[in-house]
Amino acid sequence: MKRFEGKVAIVTGASRGIGRGIALRLAEEGARVVVNHRSSAEEADETAQLIHAVGGEALVIQADVSQFDEAQRLVKEAIAAFGQLDVLVNNAGTTRDTLIMMMKEEQWDTVIDTNLKSVFNCCKAAARPMVKRKYGRIINISSVSGLAGQAGQTNYAASKAAVVGFSKSLAKELGSRNITVNVVAPGFVHTALTADILTEDNTRMAIEATPLGRLGTAEDVGAAVAFLASDEASFVTGQVLSVDGGLVMQ
Ligand code: NAP
Repeated sequence: MKRFEGKVAIVTGASRGIGRGIALRLAEEGARVVVNHRSSAEEADETAQLIHAVGGEALVIQADVSQFDEAQRLVKEAIAAFGQLDVLVNNAGTTRDTLIMMMKEEQWDTVIDTNLKSVFNCCKAAARPMVKRKYGRIINISSVSGLAGQAGQTNYAASKAAVVGFSKSLAKELGSRNITVNVVAPGFVHTALTADILTEDNTRMAIEATPLGRLGTAEDVGAAVAFLASDEASFVTGQVLSVDGGLVMQ
């Protein structure tokens, strides 16, 4: 029996990288998955094809989740297509790294809107249908930067730390309705997002600083999300699960 047979999941920002890894893992275990993206239609189709290749069911829905109305539409279209929503993974994210002296207002706003407001937008859209069914699993993707801070990432770290406070508060609001809200905080993973940061030198330094001696993978994050989305985690809420090889220990 697959863990997510009969379940429907939305994964935001699932056109590549970590989101693709999460979407694939949930689909491999039986979930019907909504693959969300903002502008990478081809990559989102590739994710859907990979899901079909493992016998899964996927639906690509374009929506800019930093926009309130688009997040509402995403959840509405997902439920119209699949009849229900069980799992929401808020994974869409971006960076505009620079020191505070150089940071433009637009760089601050883009990162906060994409990484934090999107989480509010999608949770707000999903809460009512989940409350109605008295079932829900919400997993929000934060980052080691949100837990430990990172020079050049005041915008990004602020958005990712805020996701933790948001998630704990929402866990308290929705717990009585059998809805769990948890956070996964990945360490460094090679993706388009980290292509500029993870130079050869930085990769070596990151590996040296990591007790488990390697970078993470989208599959590592997908496995942690699958655990939190599963019935084995039905008594786990308001928690932050670091998937970082021990890089940040709270
Ligand atoms: P990525 O490869 O750049 O993928 C980002 C995804 O988010 C893409 O599918 C992108 O699609 C989507 N996206 C961006 N803005 C969006 C919006 N407004 N609406 C809908 N989708 C949007 O990044 P990644 O490394 O996989 O990161 C995924 C998540 O993990 C992010 O939240 C990131 O902060 C977090 N994280 C990553 C690392 C790491 O080392 N990679 C570490 C810790 C945390 P479009 O191209 O279509 O916009």
